[in-house]
Amino acid sequence: MWLTIQLVSDIFEGLDRARKQVFRKRLEEQDLETLRKFFPYFKSLRPQHQKEFKHRLELVLTEKRFYPRGGLKEVTKEMKLLIGATIVQVVFGFKELRLRHFKNILIYPDTYLSTISNQQHAGEVNPKHGAIVLSWKSFAKGLADEKDGINLGIHEVAHALKLENWIRSNDEINFLHPKLWSEYLELSEMEMEQIQEGKDDFFRKRGGDDAHEFFAVALENFFERPEEFQNRKPLLFLVLVKLLRQNPIVLKQS
Ligand SMILES: [Zn+2]
Repeated sequence: MWLTIQLVSDIFEGLDRARKQVFRKRLEEQDLETLRKFFPYFKSLRPQHQKEFKHRLELVLTEKRFYPRGGLKEVTKEMKLLIGATIVQVVFGFKELRLRHFKNILIYPDTYLSTISNQQHAGEVNPKHGAIVLSWKSFAKGLADEKDGINLGIHEVAHALKLENWIRSNDEINFLHPKLWSEYLELSEMEMEQIQEGKDDFFRKRGGDDAHEFFAVALENFFERPEEFQNRKPLLFLVLVKLLRQNPIVLKQS
């Protein structure tokens, strides 16, 4: 009986996957132009990786729901493209990963008063509502200054990635290798201590708040300043390369 149920569910899943492939939102040439212009990661990829990136972005845009908030009139195509591209960038090393739990993307025009913390926020993730929340102004600023190690989009997607790995109700669990994760944890604890004691001048202070913030800040630097990261923190950089299954330096050079 179990086998039959499993089989039926496998068939449904297969059909669903096929449906999404066929009916996925297609990107046009002008969308790729937007990416080349405003999304440095995409521009720096080799042609075959750009092709894969495009395909995966189409699937992300098919699955996510975008909502304007706080007086934002509409979510533009450009917003969808660049936010979707940030998700693909962070999960690019995992072929099937799209952070499915976080279906809803809420966009505010600027910073907003968070109902969770009752403070002004530029972004947050809300696992209960499967939501990633972003201030468009802060997101765009993070993207525009591509080498300062501050990128709100990457920061929030990193939070979502870490949560997705441990949320039991989805099929995207435990993709972060446990052994690599514990290696990462050990190194990150030392780094956090350095930040807290004011002895580190690479990561920003926010990274010393807690383990979640450190992971998000580390990923901002991993993508925006990979060369410097590798020089300054070679062990941590290497374990992140293995953990995320991509090396932004190699992707850029090849
Ligand atoms: Zn954060």
